[in-house]
Amino acid sequence: MNEIDIGEILHHMGERDLPSNAVSPPIFQTSIFSFASFDDFKKAMDDEQKSFIYSRGNNPTVNLVELKIAALEGGERAKLVSSGSAAISHCIMGFVKAGDHIVAVRDCYSWAHHLMSDYLPRFGVETSYVDGRDSAEFEAAIRPNTKLIYLESPTTLTFKLQDIGAVAAIAKAHGIKTVIDNTWCTPLYQNPIALGIDLVLHSVSKYLGGHSDVVAGVIIGSDRDISHIFAAEFQQFGTVPDPFMAWLVLRGMRTLHVRLAAHDAAGREVAAFLEGHQAVESVLHPFLGSYPQAELAARQMRGGASLFSFRLKTRDVKKVKAFVDNLTLFKLAVSWGGYESLVFPNAVSPFAGGIIPEDRVSLIRVHIGLEDRKLLIADLDRALMAMDCA
Ligand SMILES: *Cc1c(COP(=O)(O)O)cnc(C)c1O
Repeated sequence: MNEIDIGEILHHMGERDLPSNAVSPPIFQTSIFSFASFDDFKKAMDDEQKSFIYSRGNNPTVNLVELKIAALEGGERAKLVSSGSAAISHCIMGFVKAGDHIVAVRDCYSWAHHLMSDYLPRFGVETSYVDGRDSAEFEAAIRPNTKLIYLESPTTLTFKLQDIGAVAAIAKAHGIKTVIDNTWCTPLYQNPIALGIDLVLHSVSKYLGGHSDVVAGVIIGSDRDISHIFAAEFQQFGTVPDPFMAWLVLRGMRTLHVRLAAHDAAGREVAAFLEGHQAVESVLHPFLGSYPQAELAARQMRGGASLFSFRLKTRDVKKVKAFVDNLTLFKLAVSWGGYESLVFPNAVSPFAGGIIPEDRVSLIRVHIGLEDRKLLIADLDRALMAMDCA
């Protein structure tokens, strides 16, 4: 999609005839909508998914976000929900039943993994995990009862890519539904529907919101699949996106293209700096020339996020602590996609038995924000030096 189309969607689509010639769309902070007559009421009730009846279903502020994101992803329809995790749950639970089997990427988002490994077995749904970098693994893991393939490319801690087109083709040949978590790329840098994927989801809490002030999720797919999710999952579980949140997402999306270009450039610059640093063992960033999957990254994605991981040479958790505690510009926090730089040392995660696995001790994930890049690099350099002396 070219810049003009993106600008049209982000800045004008659905906003041409706002009440009182307002520039910013109104927040429809209402739970219910009323009708002029019995016949109007009946007509709306007979077409619930396309009508304004109750804000647990549709709301104009929410629908405006959906219109724009569906267009950006090249999907027929989108559904905004209350979190990325809700989007994950709806996409998975909407298409499996007792006795079914899922094939999923092992390093997928933690709550997706939790749903498939701990929650769904209670309802008779089994999951097999694959590394995902070799498409043949998906073919090998498929069973007669496989109903869903769950992807996340790249994965957002270990940055492993799947060949989306190749996996979609395998799934199609077996009549299996495909779902992908596309949060890292946003709809601007990767469009999996064009590569044959059925359902795309995002945590809107990241770049789409972009200011660390909302939690939301979105699902994009065919009208048929979204209608199914709307009726069978969304209305049922009530993962309602509230109008003010939707309005904040609209505001965040106005600058999405500008923010992402800046994040991407800054991310690559900081990744290259870290790759050359004596205290760093390796950097996991798909757009580093040295990255093992750099060719696939360039083929499949138009750009990248500024979220990536690196591994320190040390395996001493005290040194990892010294590094993190000496950072002054990076905030210690989960999540990502806002204007601010963040650091997430994987060693803070609650590991089974309280023992940090060897490969996780020195795994550091950073999100590069919109601050001055030279200052961020200087901050990292100073903290790495302080760590070496600790
Ligand atoms: C944050 C995140 C989610 C979950 O989204 P929430 O909005 O926090 O529920 C899902 N997938 C990825 C890749 C994420 O980073």
